[in-house]
Amino acid sequence: MKQISYALLISVVILSCQKKKKETIVNVSKISKEEKAPPIITEFGYVLNDFNVVKDTIRPGDSFGAIMDTHGISRTKVFEITNTIKDTFNVAKIQAGKPYTLLKSKDTTEKAQVFVYQNNKIDYTVIDFRDSIIATKNKKPITLVEKKASGIITSSLMQTFDDMDLNFLVAYNMADIYAWTIDFTRLQSGDRFKVIYTEKFIDDTIPAGIDQIKASYFEHRSKPMYAYRFMDDSIHNSSDYFDEEANNLRRAFLTAPVKFSRISSRYNLKRRIKYYGNKVRPHRGTDFAAPIGTPILATSDGIVTKSERRGGNGKYVKIRHNATYDTQYLHMSKQAVKVGQFVKQGDVIGYIGMTGNTGGPHVCYRFWKNGKEVDPFKQDLPSSKPLSDSLKPAFYKYIEPIKAELDSIPFKPLKPQEIL
Ligand SMILES: [Zn+2]
Repeated sequence: MKQISYALLISVVILSCQKKKKETIVNVSKISKEEKAPPIITEFGYVLNDFNVVKDTIRPGDSFGAIMDTHGISRTKVFEITNTIKDTFNVAKIQAGKPYTLLKSKDTTEKAQVFVYQNNKIDYTVIDFRDSIIATKNKKPITLVEKKASGIITSSLMQTFDDMDLNFLVAYNMADIYAWTIDFTRLQSGDRFKVIYTEKFIDDTIPAGIDQIKASYFEHRSKPMYAYRFMDDSIHNSSDYFDEEANNLRRAFLTAPVKFSRISSRYNLKRRIKYYGNKVRPHRGTDFAAPIGTPILATSDGIVTKSERRGGNGKYVKIRHNATYDTQYLHMSKQAVKVGQFVKQGDVIGYIGMTGNTGGPHVCYRFWKNGKEVDPFKQDLPSSKPLSDSLKPAFYKYIEPIKAELDSIPFKPLKPQEIL
C-alpha cells in the first residue's frame, strides 16, 4: 500500500466508544479474592487448564506424522487419524510458518489428544482423537469495536494513516464511498473528514481489519458531504451510502477507472504536441497514470463489447453500459475480461500497461455518449438508485443520533487512543 502515491496529510483523532463492561470486571475481582482459583483459560472451545499445552509453528520439513510421533502417538494411530479425517482436513497440506496447538494429557504419559491447526488468523481446524476421531473446521469469534477518527489533509492521506497507526483500510473504504462525488486524486490542502467505523478483533485483541464505515463526513473544497450507511434492500441484505437528504452517493459511473491514480492528461480537443510540430492533436480521453500492473476497474455495470489488441490503442477493453454510454480503456498490459462478459461497477477488467502509443504506464479512459467521445468530467451523470420513499422516515430517524455524534467529533489532531 505504501507505494500508493498521492499526496495529502492528515492528523487523526480517535475517541473511545462508550460501551464499558463494568459489571464483568467487578465479578472477576470478587471471584479471585474469595477463591484464589487460577483463571480459567479457554481457547478453541477447550479449557486449556485441563491439558498440558504446547504451542508451536510448523517448520519447513515438518509433517503431521512427525509432530505426532514426537508427542507419543504411534504410526498406526496417525494412519487411523489421517484416514478418518481426510474428507475434512488433508494433513499433507499443513504449511510451514502456520501456528499449531497441541493439547496433551496431564497424566504421566503426556500423550497428544487434540491438534489445532491455524489456517489463518480466523480459521482453525481441530483434530480431536481422545476417543473417536473427529475433525472440525471453526472460526474464532470476532468482536466489533466502534471507533471514531477525524483528520485534516495537508499532505499524503495514506502516509498519515500509516504514521498515525490508523488502519489504511479506513482511507480505502472512504475513497470507495466518495468515489462518485470526490476526485481523490485532486484533494485540497485543508480538506477534512470525520469517520465512524467498526473494526474487527479476534479474541478481543488481535486486529482483523475494518468491518465497515457506519458514517462519515468529508469536506472537500469547503463543501460538506455526509454519508450514512443504510440497508436499502432487506431482501438482498444490501446497503448503500446516502447523504443527509437520502440521496444515494453512488453515481452510475465512477470518477476514475483506477484507485489512487493521478490524471496525467485531460480530455482536450485543442491539445498541441511539440513532437508533432505543435499541431493540434485532440486528446479524446483522460489519462490516469499508475504503476504497471495496477488494476483497472469498470466504471459502471455493462457488457464487454471489445477486448483485443489494435494499433495505437494497444490492448484495450470497451464496455457497453446502456443505449447511451460506452467506456473504453486503452494501453493495458493485459485484459482480464472477454467479449460478451457482464461486468459490475468496480470489477477488475485489466491492468495498467504501456501497449500501443504511449510514453509511460497509464490507462487512457474514453467515455462515449451516443457514439461520441466526450469529457466525463463535464457530464452531469445520473445518480444510482435513490432511497425509496417508504424507507425515508426510518432513514431520517436512524441518522439523527449518528449525525449528532459525527458533528461532536473535533478536528483537533490527536494520536490514536486506546479504545475502551
Ligand atoms: Zn489518452
